Amino acid sequence: MPLPAGAGIDDIRSGADAAPGSPLVDTHGRVHRDLRISLTDRCSLRCTYCMPEQGNEWLAKSSILTLDEIVRIARVAAADGITTFRLTGGEPLLRTDIVDVVRRLAAITGPDGRPVDIAMTTNGIRLRELLPALAGAGLRRLNISIDTLRRDRFRELTRRDRLDDVLDGIAAAAASGLRPLKLNAVAMRDVNDDELVELVEFAVAHGAQMRFIEQMPLDAGHTWDRSRMVTQDEILETLSSRWRLTPVPGRAGAPAARWHLDGGPGSVGVIASVTAPFCGDCDRLRLTADGQLRNCLFSTTEYDLLPILRGEAPGGVDEGIDGMLRSCVRGKLPGHAINDPGFLQPVRGMNAIGG
Ligand code: SAM
Ligand code: SF4
Repeated sequence: MPLPAGAGIDDIRSGADAAPGSPLVDTHGRVHRDLRISLTDRCSLRCTYCMPEQGNEWLAKSSILTLDEIVRIARVAAADGITTFRLTGGEPLLRTDIVDVVRRLAAITGPDGRPVDIAMTTNGIRLRELLPALAGAGLRRLNISIDTLRRDRFRELTRRDRLDDVLDGIAAAAASGLRPLKLNAVAMRDVNDDELVELVEFAVAHGAQMRFIEQMPLDAGHTWDRSRMVTQDEILETLSSRWRLTPVPGRAGAPAARWHLDGGPGSVGVIASVTAPFCGDCDRLRLTADGQLRNCLFSTTEYDLLPILRGEAPGGVDEGIDGMLRSCVRGKLPGHAINDPGFLQPVRGMNAIGG
């Protein structure tokens, strides 16, 4: 979206001072276009790198945003230049009103009159059953997580025996017209690092793009160990034994760097948040299921929208949401600090932040 007539980037550098409807630009000049909306912290799986098996502290049901509240926030965000809403969680398909969430969000248009883009990250369970309705409601793109193709391994890693349901969901997505279709796997040493080639072949056979994610310190159990992490370099080395990899140009703000497989058109992506952070181009904000705005996965500060939505907005609800979006953007640091000795893991696990 262009800057308002007569404005230069310095005029709106401090997001909180900008007028409603102007772009969300942070103090480092990054324009925010992407809002990740976590719909729930609940999940049908218990991936070891994300959630503990038991004893998870769930968000209070009364604090979970209603459909109307989500739509209200999304409308203000779209007016401020957000063009993509990615639905996530927890597992977004556990939300009973998920089709209505997609339908209502897909009806939102930006200041230029164009509809917003609706994407979803899911574990694929329930996708076969829900995909026709989701696509009909306006869902445009899907990322499906699958870390292993082996049943025993899947059960151990996710603590649930649901591989067939995930594979069904991927098959349904492959048969649908939703493209690009992306499959995500967290690469883990001695867990699935012997399956990287197989996973890429599986993705290619389904008309999808495989993306490997470096494991990040975001598990609710706080068990992340740098030495157990499989790095981007290791991933590329493994894949190079099977394909000639050539970088795909034009990454823009995308989290994954991509490589063509044997010259293309197939490609593979790596999200190297730990060894090759891409914070300089980050255009993302996050909204948790309980109404907290976050400017970074790793941030320890949250901007609470609940009081504004539920009755304490003397200047108006939309104005309050807009002000909070701008404060959140203004508070964004140049980068995360995973690699700093003093790094503090956020209290929330990934399932409660929204990946
Ligand atoms: N339940 C959905 C799913 O698994 O796709 C959406 C939520 S999940 C939190 C979103 C993404 O975050 C998944 O691709 C998952 O693999 C990734 N993820 C979760 N914990 C992670 C961690 N500690 N490091 C890297 N990626 C992680
Ligand atoms: Fe659930 Fe996704 Fe976390 Fe796995 S990564 S436990 S599927 S929220």
